[in-house]
Amino acid sequence: MDASMFRAWIHEAARSVTENADRLTRLDSAVGDADHGINMRRGLQAAAAMLEETNPSTPGAVLAIVGRALISKTGGASGPLYGTGFRQAARTLGQEPDVSTAQLGAALAAALTGIQRIGAALEGDKTMIDALSPAVTAYQAVIDTGGDLAKATRAASDAAEWGLKQTAGMQARKGRASYLGARTIGHEDPGAASTVLILSALAHVSSAGERCAGGYQ
Ligand code: ADP
Ligand code: MG
Repeated sequence: MDASMFRAWIHEAARSVTENADRLTRLDSAVGDADHGINMRRGLQAAAAMLEETNPSTPGAVLAIVGRALISKTGGASGPLYGTGFRQAARTLGQEPDVSTAQLGAALAAALTGIQRIGAALEGDKTMIDALSPAVTAYQAVIDTGGDLAKATRAASDAAEWGLKQTAGMQARKGRASYLGARTIGHEDPGAASTVLILSALAHVSSAGERCAGGYQ
C-alpha cells in the first residue's frame, strides 16, 4: 500500500463523515452537546484539503498530516484524540513508501494505544475505544490466519460496527457524556459511530484497490 491508497482512504472518510454528519450530531445531541458531526466534518475536510495542498509521498507522511489537521481543526474532545491516533499510526509507518498489511495492523494498534494513553478510556466506557479496540483485534486475527488486506479491513469495520451497537447498552464514563450518567444508556456513542465510518472507508478503498490493477499490496 502506497501513499495514494492512504490519501484515497482519507478522502473517502471525509466524504462519508460529511454525508453522515447530521446523524453523528443527532447521536451527540442525546449524550453530549450536539457537535460531533460538525467537528468531524470540519476536521476531515481540513485533512483532505491539506493532503491536496501538500501531496505527501509516503503513507506515514499522509497520516502525520491528517493527525496534525485533526488536532488543529476538529475541536471538541474528539480532535486531539483522533489526531493523536493518526500521529501514532504515522510514527509506526515511518518513511517507507510502501507498507504491508501487517504494518497497517501495527499502525491501527498504535492508534488505539495512543488514544488510550491520552484519553484513559477502557472498553466499556462508551467511547470510540469500544469500536476501535475490537476492530484492531479483528484485523490482527485475519492477518494471523493468512487473510489479505480487503478481508482484514472488512473484519475491522464489521467489528467496529458490532462495538458501536454494544455502546447503546453502556453508561458513559468518559468525556462530556459522563455528566449525564445513566441517561446515556440506550443511545449509541457518537465517537464510536465516527470510528465505524473511518474504518468502513478504509475497507471500501481496500476492496476497490483489490478489484483494479491487482490490488494494493
Ligand atoms: P466533545 O465531547 O468535546 O463535544 P465530540 O462531540 O467531538 O467532543 O466527541 C465526543 C466523542 O469523543 C465521544 O462520543 C467519545 O467517543 C469520544 N471521547 C470523549 N472522551 C473520550 C476519552 N477520554 N477517550 C476516548 N474517547 C473519548
Ligand atoms: Mg460533542
